[in-house]
Amino acid sequence: MRHRSRLLAVLLLAAGLTGPAQGAWHQDTQAIMGTRVHAEIWHDDPAVAAELLDAVMAEMRRIDATYSPYVESSELSALNRDAPRGWRTVSPEMFELLSRSRRVSELTGGAFDVTYASVGRYYDYREGRRPDDERIRAAVEAIDYRYVELDPQGPRVRFSRPEVYVDLGGIAKGYAVDRAIALLRRAGIDQASVSAGGDAYILGDRRGEPWTVGVRDPRNEDAMAVVLPLVDTAVSTSGDYERFFIEDGVRYHHILDPATGRSAQGAWSVTILGPDATFTDALSTSVFVLGPERGLALIDRLPGIDAIVIDAEGRLHYSADLAPLQDD
Ligand code: ADP
Ligand code: MG
Repeated sequence: MRHRSRLLAVLLLAAGLTGPAQGAWHQDTQAIMGTRVHAEIWHDDPAVAAELLDAVMAEMRRIDATYSPYVESSELSALNRDAPRGWRTVSPEMFELLSRSRRVSELTGGAFDVTYASVGRYYDYREGRRPDDERIRAAVEAIDYRYVELDPQGPRVRFSRPEVYVDLGGIAKGYAVDRAIALLRRAGIDQASVSAGGDAYILGDRRGEPWTVGVRDPRNEDAMAVVLPLVDTAVSTSGDYERFFIEDGVRYHHILDPATGRSAQGAWSVTILGPDATFTDALSTSVFVLGPERGLALIDRLPGIDAIVIDAEGRLHYSADLAPLQDD
């Protein structure tokens, strides 16, 4: 009996080593966080793959329920209600996300600023609603990441002005992608892609070939401006075509310049490549605000980060390390 089972194990092992690959691609797509979440993994057991895809989607839903400013019961909504009145204890995860946001603010000279929402909350792109000049003038005073005070002693936060309002929309999707990838890695997955709207992580290759990720033509939904072969990288795109409305020929879209409280005008789209999606997400929003010149100067100072910018005339610009692409 004992001998037989050992023999069986040896036979199975041999089959695994020499037989044809048993794996297959498994994928799922769902509407979460106001966007399209897609996950695709290579696995040899369909049941385990389905469980992992469910776990990915559950994690995305948890992050949405915690960090959405539109969900009244979210931790972020509680923070926005309480932190203007004094210290509020937050989860270690919230504290970490706010700390990472602050570091990006410092790195980008405030182009990335989660308090952009002190003005941003008055825009409604679906309804085509925007704040008037007077409202912007008043509310822009409450945009400054330094108004979000982080207690170095522990996970406590307060806002130093009552009108401050925080939205993590510029970083939360990238963070969710990183969390999903970490979950898959822990389960032993080494070939996968996970995306939430314009934020993605590519894990490993695609059966010996690179994955291909397209950067959309910002003015033509059906066309690609660039196609990138990618392996083991995060990639985030911010575009002025995601959430917008046009009034009297002016495009009002969802990426605001914290200095003015108005939609940033220097680019049509920005794509960032880097080691993790939390960072590339925040940087794509930042470089969009900074515009091609200042944005690419910043990227060229950051090791391991690359960028593709489509400027407000539709011209392509690459960071220094990607310049060879330009010859294609
Ligand atoms: P999306 O994938 O939604 O297009 P982006 O990475 O382009 O996301 O970021 C846009 C989102 O970032 C906006 O919807 C808003 O929630 C938030 N945001 C807008 N302007 C800023 C800013 N200057 N700093 C930080 N976050 C911002
Ligand atoms: Mg972003």
